[in-house]
Amino acid sequence: MASSDSHPTKTLTASCHCRNIQFSITLPKSSLPLKIHICHCTICRYVHGAPCCFHTPLPDGVDLDFIAPSSKDKLTSYTHPSFRSRKWFCSTCGCHIGDSSLTGEVSWTISTAIYDANREEEGIWKFNSHICPGSTGDGGLSGVFGSVDGVELKMWDLDLPVADSTKTASSAPATVTEKAVSQGSNANADIPADPNEKLLAQCHCGDVSFHISRPSPDFITSPASSTWLSPLDKTRWLASLDLCDDCRLVTGTNVIGWMFVPVDHITPAVPSNLLVGSSKAYHSTEDVVRTFCGTCGATVFYWCKERPEIVDVATGLLRAPEGVMAEKWAVWRSGRLAWPENGLRYHEGFARALMDGMKVWGKERGHADEFVVP
Ligand SMILES: [Zn+2]
Ligand SMILES: [Zn+2]
Ligand SMILES: [Zn+2]
Repeated sequence: MASSDSHPTKTLTASCHCRNIQFSITLPKSSLPLKIHICHCTICRYVHGAPCCFHTPLPDGVDLDFIAPSSKDKLTSYTHPSFRSRKWFCSTCGCHIGDSSLTGEVSWTISTAIYDANREEEGIWKFNSHICPGSTGDGGLSGVFGSVDGVELKMWDLDLPVADSTKTASSAPATVTEKAVSQGSNANADIPADPNEKLLAQCHCGDVSFHISRPSPDFITSPASSTWLSPLDKTRWLASLDLCDDCRLVTGTNVIGWMFVPVDHITPAVPSNLLVGSSKAYHSTEDVVRTFCGTCGATVFYWCKERPEIVDVATGLLRAPEGVMAEKWAVWRSGRLAWPENGLRYHEGFARALMDGMKVWGKERGHADEFVVP
């Protein structure tokens, strides 16, 4: 699309972490700002491995222009009979770039997390809504922050005629009431955790699937427990939201959650190369291995050389009956997110809303203000 005075355009440039995927999109300026929908539906969570995804629909006819040597054949696509779109992710690093139409016309809903080149420009991005908060069970991050950059976010649940929800929403019925979404369940009010209970973690396609155990009695009494368990509750694992650039660019979402679990508390046993099921590995740095499902693209594990006995499990995969935040399994660090400086640089208003919201949410619900992950 050529820019002219009568039809001014704006070009945005995106790339994934490994940079095998690089493309631009050229938009009519009249379509800006692009409205960001934070989608909490089960499809978006289980294909990204994140607590939610960050999407915006492009005007029909606007296509991705790949920047050589990048090309569309460096992407993997994934769809499912329940989808109204096809998901695309980098075959090398797993970064989700967005969804295309199933019917052949050029109609994209893109991830908004991969536009470093355009991150600071005014008037391009506008956070607009939380979509499908009801499918989270506990509100998820929609219960943590309700406005970004001074704009109150709309709450859209299923069956509402919103472009993103019609393109990506789950077919699962929303069964959670408004009251439950705003209040969630109070994990601390419940009876003690069953030590034999297991938590399922599974990507959307099901090719990556495993169970997490409660901290074993041996682990609880071992020296390692002082690092990896909270004095608040030694039957749950530590968890944190992460705003780092590397996580953003391998997942394709503005934030990701991690639960820190000893490898020996996962069944079936995780092989030393970390490749569970159809997983692929990507080294984001020399001493860091990240894995993602090669079929649907979900982020699965983060592992680093300094603490080889622990894997960070992407919390978007967790299937805790109580909800997305898996509060019966996780003590969240609510006073501090990982890598806030990265998040503030990428989108200050969003990072502030999330950090401020987590402080309040964590205090109200009895999570840990602080702990240090080595
Ligand atoms: Zn990549
Ligand atoms: Zn969705
Ligand atoms: Zn999968």
